Amino acid sequence: MTSSPNPQTEFVNPVVVYTAASNVEAHMIVKLLSTNDIPAYAVEDQSGVSLWAMGTISQFHQPRIWVEDASAEDAAKLIRVFEEKNQMRRQPGLGDNVIAVVCEGCGKTTSFPESQNGTTQDCGHCGCFVDVGDTDFDADLETAEESGQ
Ligand SMILES: [Zn+2]
Repeated sequence: MTSSPNPQTEFVNPVVVYTAASNVEAHMIVKLLSTNDIPAYAVEDQSGVSLWAMGTISQFHQPRIWVEDASAEDAAKLIRVFEEKNQMRRQPGLGDNVIAVVCEGCGKTTSFPESQNGTTQDCGHCGCFVDVGDTDFDADLETAEESGQ
């Protein structure tokens, strides 16, 4: 880290296109923009406290993503796609990688990772053997069980 470049000085008219929720997200977005030929950098609020003294306190630790003014529109589009993908990944409930199995012994549902598809595992409720993936039931069953009267 002896001669780390300072990208901020290369920007003529930098603007904030996004306020990330975390440093990890900030770095992901900077990388995303960079691979799309949009130079970007992330700045944490802490380093610009005096500059952003009038900013809201709720954004204190949230890094901002800066890009050149001319590429702000393209950057915003890329970030929007990034966000949509992120939200899909954060959907609650059973994901694609989980197999719900109904135990023939106790009738309760246990979820197993898809990597155990086709194997025999122990029921999480009674300890009976259950066949993962070898049933007609799918992930919806857990919801059906809860709403069933
Ligand atoms: Zn069981």
